[in-house]
Amino acid sequence: MKYTSPRGTRDLLPVESAIFRKTINKLLGIFNLFNYQELTTPIFESSGLFERAVGETTDIVEKEMYTFKDKGDRSITLRPEGTASIVRAYLEHLSEFQQQQVAKFTYVGPMFRYERPQTGRYRQFYQLGVEAIGSISPMLDVETMIMGIHALDSLGVKNAEIAINSVGCDVCRPVIKEQLKEFVGSIVGDLCPDCQNRYENNPLRILDCKNPKCQTYFMGMPSMSKALCKECNDHFICVLDQLDENNIQYVVDPNLVRGLDYYTKTVFEIRSMLLGAQNAICGGGRYDNLIAELGGRKTPAFGFAIGLDRLVMVLNQLSLQPATDLDIDVFCIGLENEAQNKVFQIMNVLRKNNIKCEYYFKRNSISDGIKQGLLFKAKFAIILGEEEIENKKITLKDLTTKRQNSYDSIEEVLKVIKG
Ligand SMILES: [Zn+2]
Ligand SMILES: [Zn+2]
Repeated sequence: MKYTSPRGTRDLLPVESAIFRKTINKLLGIFNLFNYQELTTPIFESSGLFERAVGETTDIVEKEMYTFKDKGDRSITLRPEGTASIVRAYLEHLSEFQQQQVAKFTYVGPMFRYERPQTGRYRQFYQLGVEAIGSISPMLDVETMIMGIHALDSLGVKNAEIAINSVGCDVCRPVIKEQLKEFVGSIVGDLCPDCQNRYENNPLRILDCKNPKCQTYFMGMPSMSKALCKECNDHFICVLDQLDENNIQYVVDPNLVRGLDYYTKTVFEIRSMLLGAQNAICGGGRYDNLIAELGGRKTPAFGFAIGLDRLVMVLNQLSLQPATDLDIDVFCIGLENEAQNKVFQIMNVLRKNNIKCEYYFKRNSISDGIKQGLLFKAKFAIILGEEEIENKKITLKDLTTKRQNSYDSIEEVLKVIKG
């Protein structure tokens, strides 16, 4: 029996894991400048949380969730997104945050959706997200989008663009839906089965359809922004004005709705032109009803998530991936027992001096040891053969120049290694 990783999942091998880790650290560093604090929640939650938060009629809840009964007969779901858990945790520990005008959280980790695997799309995928809970100010929308651009910029991604729209509120959403139903009504028979289903249950979702045939029908769609109520319209205008003020490039995309039900007012994506049809690296928006929906007081909020799998794909395509530092500094060879003891003491000193080293466990021969050292891309080899033990010397070989020298003390060796 030969096992492979489950369909739609993958192993992040060391080089890719290192790129992920460094990318995450870089982004968290930027989020920290905007006062976001990391909040780590469980990978699974009660199924009801996601059904309620994401929306019963969304693709995620209808088709894509990993839901199962645990041994206590509870319905459990592997998180398909991060916002619901953050809001749940916010409400659970409310007293710690309710004095703050806004509570800002960031999270990172795997999410799970049972989707058809395709390039850059996995059933276990990684998201790095932010949620700012507590403010209705359009400046929060603007600040968060500035942060998204700042974060990508810090990684060298310059060709990203914000696509933005407003999906309205409780007051104007019904008008938008009506308008949409009216427009779609005459052509609904020509749309894909998913869209026909959405037409009945969740008409806004129709705009989310990736089916190219459906897409062509949406070209002449009446603009949603025309149906916004005064409050939503003022909010949207203010956000756009402030993006201009801050020199942030954007396009208004009247068909942008995002695949989750909880959004209100501003929704946005940051797109890379490199990714083709699936081109969003980052997406999010305002969700002013979700906290109340999950049992809290009505509290406005704004957030986004970055798809790390796609982001790293873009970094690789642009040759912007961070350096991975997997090579070692010194490979340490000692053949005889006494040499072995001495080499271990040397390695203790090297590591305390932040020098990365590896030991030659095989102890076959010095030439085989050098080969192993080269395999690990070591810069130096330390060699303790019979001669070195006898003369109380340490040989240091530069594996690039192939030159070697013997030294009396580890301090001298350290000086050479540190250059
Ligand atoms: Zn409205
Ligand atoms: Zn469709």
